[in-house]
Amino acid sequence: MKDMTHALPDGRIFLAGRWEEGGGAPITSSFSHDGSENLTFNGASREDAERAIAAAKAAQADPAWRDLLPHERAKYLYRIADGIEANIDRISYIQSRDTGKTVTETRALAGSAVGTFRYFAAVCETADETLTTQRATALTASVHEPIGVVGAITPWNSPIASDAQKLAPALAAGNAMVMKPSSWSPLVSLELARIVAEAGLPEGLLSVLPGSGREVGNLLVEHPDVGRIAFTGGTATGRMLGEQAGRKLMPISLELGGKSPTIVWDDADQELAIAGILFGIFSSSGQSCIAGSRLFVQRSIFNGFVEKLVAATRRLKLGDPFAPGTQVAPMINHEHRASVEAYIKGALDEGGEILCGGKRPEGAEYEAGAYLEPTIIAGLANDAKTCREEIFGPVLVVLPFDDEANVVAQSNDNEYGLACGIWTRDFPRAWRLARAIRAGTVWINTYKQFSISTPFGGDGASGMGREKGREGLRVWQRQKGIYADLTGQPHPWAGITTGQE
Ligand code: NDP
Repeated sequence: MKDMTHALPDGRIFLAGRWEEGGGAPITSSFSHDGSENLTFNGASREDAERAIAAAKAAQADPAWRDLLPHERAKYLYRIADGIEANIDRISYIQSRDTGKTVTETRALAGSAVGTFRYFAAVCETADETLTTQRATALTASVHEPIGVVGAITPWNSPIASDAQKLAPALAAGNAMVMKPSSWSPLVSLELARIVAEAGLPEGLLSVLPGSGREVGNLLVEHPDVGRIAFTGGTATGRMLGEQAGRKLMPISLELGGKSPTIVWDDADQELAIAGILFGIFSSSGQSCIAGSRLFVQRSIFNGFVEKLVAATRRLKLGDPFAPGTQVAPMINHEHRASVEAYIKGALDEGGEILCGGKRPEGAEYEAGAYLEPTIIAGLANDAKTCREEIFGPVLVVLPFDDEANVVAQSNDNEYGLACGIWTRDFPRAWRLARAIRAGTVWINTYKQFSISTPFGGDGASGMGREKGREGLRVWQRQKGIYADLTGQPHPWAGITTGQE
């Protein structure tokens, strides 16, 4: 990749259509491969967020935006998609610097954001309103209207994709949005703001405010003028924000954590399964909500399969996110690595056996970075803490199972319900399991594939609500029923006849 150092944002935040110095505490973005600093800048303050919300309210109510027809709104989304596509190199560079993810992955994420904007542009201009079945002497209709000002609060692991999944349908639905990216990865959202501004979106309709979650994020949830929040992040934060939104009677969608089961049957194509499992847990260094972090292998093949899996894991290439061929890049930062290492220690305390990894890689090239070897742990029961809790790192636990009833029971015996992978050649069995396991997404003989046309979200501690798909537009709108009288007659209850003075 050519030198893109100049591509990093300049440290101003995007407030009400203008680039300004933030009034909040400083935020530092670092490159977790070598610990070098990308940028330190002032994040947004609560007062900045107040101003952004007021500007969003005015911009949303302005006839220049409010009165646009859907196909006219769609034009902005197509332009934003073109802008992202033209800047994929910059976006992937910034995101790899900001998160430590491999550039291969950040290019794919940027590509998916292009698809997201184009998809919701198309949904926007083709979504029909409905004349409902007539049951009285009135014409009845169901129509959808924008909510007004909406908010997005996003995490650090896949910022451009999380941002696009919220911003594209929210704009398509006719809203104004204030976004609060994670303090650990604030830069790519600012690059998205630059692209949106260049697409000519009316001023004030979007603000991007990196800043403290407790201050700026919380204000978005509490503020009376914000009518909906889409949150992606940890379960503890999600629960708290859900309670606040409930008190305000405001809709909120919560995309939270996971501890997703992957199931391998004795008839599975083992080569395919191993490739899918490695990708499912160790890509993004396991910092993925849908990481397949609990592996169930049928007891009859357990030892042999796990041996092959461990050997393949040992061959994975760790390294610089920008180096060709890197499969496992560093984690987001040293602080998060320390929390994952604490889980590995906890697994040993619980009586687990580390089959591979469990430590930092050796070698000068890894010394300054937040690297951790891909780790596989065996010998624990499904109710051990290591098997119950989300670790959010490159750590896989392997467990045996006996039969269908047993693996369904073990898979569902966890508070999360985000994703599941099934590896078998027996399609009817795969389908039965796909229906029986509590998860928002199930992959059969594949893992971690995504399509913007297919709904995504979790159940239980993994959250509530769905993003993506055609319905993904409607959650950003209010539905209204309209009755239009067809008789021209006074209501009989009033006892008035036509023509009576
Ligand atoms: P956090 O919940 O810590 O943070 C997420 C966002 O919420 C950040 O922008 C953060 O801001 C903000 N925030 C934190 N506290 C508050 C608060 N009191 N009020 C309002 N906003 C707040 O999660 P992480 O960033 O650590 O992300 C990792 C988590 O996200 C994992 O659990 C993962 O599973 C989940 N996730 C879920 C996905 C899904 O689709 N289901 C996808 C990706 C991740 P700040 O950074 O300033 O603290």
